[in-house]
Amino acid sequence: MIGLPWPSSWEALRIDVPALKADGEPLEDAFSLPVPLLSHWGLDYRFPQPVAFRVRASRQGERILVEVGMKGVLVVPCSRCLAPASASMEGEGEFAFRLGPEGRQESEDEDGEDAPQEDVQELDAWADRVELAPLFWEVLVTALPSGVLCKEDCRGLCPHCGADRNVQSCQCEEGSVDPRLEALRRALDADEEFQRREGK
Ligand SMILES: [Zn+2]
Ligand SMILES: [Zn+2]
Repeated sequence: MIGLPWPSSWEALRIDVPALKADGEPLEDAFSLPVPLLSHWGLDYRFPQPVAFRVRASRQGERILVEVGMKGVLVVPCSRCLAPASASMEGEGEFAFRLGPEGRQESEDEDGEDAPQEDVQELDAWADRVELAPLFWEVLVTALPSGVLCKEDCRGLCPHCGADRNVQSCQCEEGSVDPRLEALRRALDADEEFQRREGK
């Protein structure tokens, strides 16, 4: 589970277990949720409009399966020039739950010792709800795109002087020094300078 907090307004989102008939019709629901600024991977993601979530929950005996789908639009700094770049995002996830100790025993008999370990979350026998906030949050954060560009052919920032090459050209010679080598050279110079001052 992802260790970021979800909006507190999401706490009320849940599936009522008693409403889920065993082997009955699945429950479906849809939500349109505002998402506040989200910082992830060192980037600030903004959501200019509410993110759409849909959920489908079904129950088979003591097992509950919750399927989540998500669709939204976000704005994040362009990975080349840092200007705001917009992208659409989609994601989905499946979450399995098992109710109570009875269900567990039954299932151990079925699966046997060597059964592959399924990622099933246990619910207390008396649990009356499945919280949706952590599920929605996981689907959202997992789907955050990286490397978003403001436009396909964004020319990015000059690695030498930082000029935005989309709006201006600079005097720096194209490809004169590989910026990675340049950084290394500067680090070595600084090291030499340090050693000289230390008198070594
Ligand atoms: Zn750009
Ligand atoms: Zn430049």
